[in-house]
Amino acid sequence: MSKRKLDEKDEPTPTAAPQPTSNGASEVSFADLGLDARLVQAVAKQNYEKPTLVQRTAIPLALDGKDVLARAKTGSGKTAAYVLPLLHFILSRKKMDPTSFTSALILVPTRELADQVFKVVEQLSAFCAKDVQAAKLTDKVSDAVQRSILSNNPDIVISTPARVWKCIESSALSVDRLTHLVLDEADLVLSYGYDEDLQNVAKSIPKGVQAMLMSATLTAEVGTLKSVFCRNPKVLDLQERDAEGEGVRQFVVKCGEDEKFLLVYVIIKLQLIKGKCIIFVADVDRCYRLKLFFEQFGIRSCILNSELPVNSRIHVVEEFNKNVYDIIIASDENEVLGDEDQPADDVPNGNVSEAIVQGDNGERMTEKDDAHQDVRAKKKRKTVKRDREYGVSRGIDFRNVACVLNFDLPTSAKSYTHRIGRTARAGQTGMALSFCVPKELYRKHTPTSVETAENDEKVLARIIKQQAKQGKEVKPWNFDMKQVEAFRYRMNDALRAVTKVAIREARTRELRQELLKSEKLKRHFEENPSEMHNLIRHDGELRVARTQAHLKHVPEYLLPKEGKKSLTSGDIGFVPFRKEGKKTRGHKKGKSRGRPFKVGGRKGDPLRTFKARRKTK
Ligand code: AMP
Repeated sequence: MSKRKLDEKDEPTPTAAPQPTSNGASEVSFADLGLDARLVQAVAKQNYEKPTLVQRTAIPLALDGKDVLARAKTGSGKTAAYVLPLLHFILSRKKMDPTSFTSALILVPTRELADQVFKVVEQLSAFCAKDVQAAKLTDKVSDAVQRSILSNNPDIVISTPARVWKCIESSALSVDRLTHLVLDEADLVLSYGYDEDLQNVAKSIPKGVQAMLMSATLTAEVGTLKSVFCRNPKVLDLQERDAEGEGVRQFVVKCGEDEKFLLVYVIIKLQLIKGKCIIFVADVDRCYRLKLFFEQFGIRSCILNSELPVNSRIHVVEEFNKNVYDIIIASDENEVLGDEDQPADDVPNGNVSEAIVQGDNGERMTEKDDAHQDVRAKKKRKTVKRDREYGVSRGIDFRNVACVLNFDLPTSAKSYTHRIGRTARAGQTGMALSFCVPKELYRKHTPTSVETAENDEKVLARIIKQQAKQGKEVKPWNFDMKQVEAFRYRMNDALRAVTKVAIREARTRELRQELLKSEKLKRHFEENPSEMHNLIRHDGELRVARTQAHLKHVPEYLLPKEGKKSLTSGDIGFVPFRKEGKKTRGHKKGKSRGRPFKVGGRKGDPLRTFKARRKTK
């Protein structure tokens, strides 16, 4: 638990008046912002030392009653930037009128984000929990339960536009006395096709509601939203120096399709990258191909994709954030299937007259939990029916990610920025490594080929150009292929075991297992919300492919004499995110946790010894 930064009287330490600095207001403290003392105390409990740029800019405007449209990304502290003013207003009003009614509505594009926002509301209202009730409408509960939650008149309602509109329409929720509206990830809300729901919500809320829009980009569509919800808003086009991806060292490796598997094996097994890693792949099948491939080498990993039940997804992210898992293989279909190849240059302030945005209405899977879907029926459909409320490379708050590995390059430069933004958050360092398949090597190894790779070089050129505009460089990561070649035989051996049939079976089996886990999680969560973790693991072996025990350790003779650093040239790898020798939480003696053991030594891996294996039986 984090230590509270309070004085001896258990009160937040008052801060001196803001000190002017070279860059303006960086010495401003939370207390200086004029927030309710209980909120300042909660902020201190969260160990937020100083407000971030979006917080110190947006909060005073919001407290002043202004509508705000802020360009703010996940990782910038945007959630607290709108939650704190909302809480402040509710607390101020309750001093005069203690009745409860829904005065604030927070709209988000995904259930995962709704969950995160709800948590932030809980954390920041820790010292005034009696006075502020919040409800999220995104949980899969019956209409009756939903109604009863809403009948308590929660002060703050967090929802996706579709769900909230359903509740407004059915009169389960009254927004007659709404005073504040937040649209978080506004650009994503639109790309998820919530336009009609938003129009409906806009029509049903009272005039003069104070609006705050948070958006990673200020596109034309966001400009349209602005005109629908805001009156003369203050537009904050903030460019935070330590925002998303700022401290990311970026590397690219040009390689053949099967070499991706070779390199990822070497990188992970020999720990060329240290710390937690998100591996992005092109689609759901690819997740399982890579997971099964890793399994051959005794490397554990979790999968995150839109097909999995939402409870499982949330749980995976939570556990990953607690360092229980080290590798997540994510398919970000919303990005990878590519509906967002817009120009990189955004339109600030957007004086736009288009009607609220496109979006395919037909296919949206609102809150219907994908829990009861049949995989086979799904597969028959040409276009995968994906959960439109799922998004990995944006929105979700992954903590302490040392490396984002673009196993399959995304299809746009924008998508790349979102992905690499999952690492190097809050001033930390991190690295992004991308595999890029040159045109001449595309389709040269059919079993490992993926369609999106056809344009890898074009996309990479756009990525490099866009990063250069921000003064960042994408450097080549040169592997000494001769040294890496030594591992090719093992890679081929493992790849052969990962057949199409095995992948299909793994996908079906994992979904089935996750549905069961999801039900368990749900039940347990209902009874014991704070102990949802520790319950279930998501990185178990699928065991559908033929496994070969000998692959699980790396024999000494394969290792370069000069040490593993000689596999690569240049200043790369070894991100000192996690200190050498320091085990991640949850690493218990005798338990495999996905990360390789001491390379080349059976001693280092208790599960690989005869004794240990006997014991586990
Ligand atoms: P967000 O951009 O709202 O998703 O926040 C990203 C992360 O930054 C969350 O884990 C927050 O807990 C953290 N955070 C928010 N505000 C601050 C702050 N002022 N100082 C330090 N961390 C913060």
